[in-house]
Amino acid sequence: MIIAVASGKGGTGKTTVSTNLALALSSTHRVQYLDCDVEEPNGHIFLKPQIESTAVVTTPVPVIDESKCTVCGKCKDICRYNAIVLLGKSVLTFPELCHGCGGCSLVCPTGALIETQREIGFIEQGRAGDIMFVNGMLNIGEVLSPLVIKYVKERIDDDSIAIIDVPPGTSCPVVEAVKGTDYVVLVTEPTPFGVNDLKLAVDMLKALNLPFGVVVNRADAGDEAVFDYCRGESIEILMKIPDDRRIAQAYSRGEMAVCAVPECRAQFTDLAAAIKGKFDEYCGN
Ligand code: SF4
Ligand code: SF4
Repeated sequence: MIIAVASGKGGTGKTTVSTNLALALSSTHRVQYLDCDVEEPNGHIFLKPQIESTAVVTTPVPVIDESKCTVCGKCKDICRYNAIVLLGKSVLTFPELCHGCGGCSLVCPTGALIETQREIGFIEQGRAGDIMFVNGMLNIGEVLSPLVIKYVKERIDDDSIAIIDVPPGTSCPVVEAVKGTDYVVLVTEPTPFGVNDLKLAVDMLKALNLPFGVVVNRADAGDEAVFDYCRGESIEILMKIPDDRRIAQAYSRGEMAVCAVPECRAQFTDLAAAIKGKFDEYCGN
């Protein structure tokens, strides 16, 4: 089973939920944690994995052999990402904008474009106790988060419960991270910002036809709007995490809530059981 933990905005407690869920489940199941929040992965701060291997993520980019180029402009015309421009009698490429589609090499009539590989990020794999750990990292200044996320997800172990820490928001990297998952946990908070971004995330998941439920973090520290919204939309609230000073202190020390606050372990185990139940219900089991 693949569980995605997502949020309409950053700072809601998504990583708290994903890492603690992984740790609570790991005492009874084979568990894998995959950090797809590749622009700012921080699951490692809490799970403290031993990294065993690292792999570079690359994308193909074109390089122009000026001796063969006739400056016909066909490569510029086909590029949807403005990664190639004509400047007088020169053709310039902007590798940072290139999405590696290969179109320019295909249309070049003289074979002047050859592809080289450019590094855009890396993947780390290791173990955090009983948890198999995978971390994706996009290099600073790069834009191809979805490609790094794709590489992280290629490492999903089918025999495990895979927990994916999804980037915040509702843009392309989020869609890449949640697609193909079995259930999505949306983490929110009871604030006007929380409910606004939750609505966006719910709309995205409905469009993708993915089953989901909500976890409300700091549930007793805000207003009722998020609860009213979920009630009105018949969205299940799977868990309410209290505004507990001990959880906040554990977070600030980079410690797991299920270790620092004894009753949290049972709550996260219950969350896992609720997710499994919802998934079975969705599948008609
Ligand atoms: S398509 Fe080939 S020949 Fe034409 S401008 Fe581009 S690199 Fe030069
Ligand atoms: S590979 Fe695709 S995205 Fe990159 S420069 Fe060529 S046409 Fe543009």
